Amino acid sequence: MKEVLREKKVRKLDNGELENRARTARRKSSKRRTATTTYERDPYVSEFAKRWAKGICQLCNHPAPFLNKNGDPYLHTHHIEWLSRGGEDSIYNTIALCPNCHDKMHIMNLEEDIRELKDKVIFNVGIG
Ligand SMILES: [Zn+2]
Ligand SMILES: [Zn+2]
Repeated sequence: MKEVLREKKVRKLDNGELENRARTARRKSSKRRTATTTYERDPYVSEFAKRWAKGICQLCNHPAPFLNKNGDPYLHTHHIEWLSRGGEDSIYNTIALCPNCHDKMHIMNLEEDIRELKDKVIFNVGIG
C-alpha cells in the first residue's frame, strides 16, 4: 500500500526533480519480508495448455519470445478466471500466453481479451 502511494508521487515529479532524486538514490536496496499466497497448479493442465498452443501465444498470436533451456517455447499458463478469484485449475480455464500478454491480462484484464481467450478455449477444448 505504502509502495503504491510512493509510486504515484514519483510519477508526478518533473524530469529535473526526478533526475536529482534518482542520482542521489541510496544504491543499496533494503530488505523487506512479504507474505504471499501461492496456488498449487496441476502440471498436466499447464502442460496441456502449452502443448495445445504449439508455441504460439493465444492472445497476440505471435511465437513465444524464446525457447527455454529444454528447447521448449517459453509461454506462461494463464487462468482466464484467476485462481485468486475462485477460477478453477482445469483445461477449460487455462490458456498459454507470451509473458507480455500474460502481464497485460494481469494488469488490464480487458473484457475483450477475456472473451477472446474464452472463445479460443471453447473452440479447441469444448465446454467443461
Ligand atoms: Zn502474446
Ligand atoms: Zn495468469
